[in-house]
Amino acid sequence: MTSSRRTSSRRTSSRRDGDTWDLASSVGATATMAAMTRAIATRADDELIDDPFAEPLVRAVGIELLTRLATGEEPPGDLVGRAAIDGAKVRTRFYDEFFLDAADTGITQAVILASGLDSRAYRLPWPAGTVVYELDQPEVVEFKTRTLAGLGAEPTARRRVVAADLRDDWPAALRAAGFDPARPAAWSAEGLLGYLPPEAQDRLLDTITELSAPGSRVATESRPNPRPGEEDRTKQSLNRISELFRSADFDPDMAKLRYFGERNEAAPYLAGLGWAVTGRTVRELLAAHGLPPLEEDDLRMGEVRYVRGELTK
Ligand code: SAM
Repeated sequence: MTSSRRTSSRRTSSRRDGDTWDLASSVGATATMAAMTRAIATRADDELIDDPFAEPLVRAVGIELLTRLATGEEPPGDLVGRAAIDGAKVRTRFYDEFFLDAADTGITQAVILASGLDSRAYRLPWPAGTVVYELDQPEVVEFKTRTLAGLGAEPTARRRVVAADLRDDWPAALRAAGFDPARPAAWSAEGLLGYLPPEAQDRLLDTITELSAPGSRVATESRPNPRPGEEDRTKQSLNRISELFRSADFDPDMAKLRYFGERNEAAPYLAGLGWAVTGRTVRELLAAHGLPPLEEDDLRMGEVRYVRGELTK
């Protein structure tokens, strides 16, 4: 990608079956925005998050505004509110601890679904022999591999890239990369479920379960279903955020990227598949880490639950 891309390369259009993207367009741009937020949170330096690769990865994608935010040249101001920054801290910490706890129990296969610009394969102290599978759209995973290699970064585990679409036959691609379903694995689906249609979310959780040997672990987010009229407020909020970015010359159009409507909540759905599920809401995690509570919360971020499950079947 270029170093001076001003806006997302393609205008955001509504989601459709089989759509694809890179890190500057459609759902791919949300991965760059997540990394930009991690770069800001890392600079806040309060020991919850240390992602030294977030900033150079965002810079390499080349969306000018996101680069300026990631490097600190542009203050986060209203564009990236405190809720988003503190949210990135507790979310990153949650998944870091999830993988390290799983590794402590002897699990040597980690599968990061929808890995985006996640750098855990390069920054976590994985025990020797751990294989980390990173799955995302081809342009996303290939870009990260190329960029981090160019920066001289070395993975801290045996990293295997799986270029696949989670709406297609991704298990075949995962097995082809060496994944062994007979051995326990630790799975994450971070920042992903809302970008899948409801039935694709169920299929994903079903498939993870089918591929999981006893002792496997899973971590994801579980959102409450919308109350009547609430989705309209969520869309308005997303549109307000998108408008702020658009006025600064970047067009994420976030309301178009998510799938709305009723869906199964991930935590009870996983429990129904046999996982022993525990979790804490964002509100609880912020309090546990001594961070201030959320003020305005149109998106019900405080009620999102980060959950982990263990399969004891
Ligand atoms: N997990 C990363 C993080 O937390 O930084 C990225 C989160 S980003 C909000 C959403 C990610 O989901 C993007 O990297 C996108 O490419 C990926 N994604 C969404 N739908 C997908 C699909 N059908 N197949 C593969 N990847 C998908």
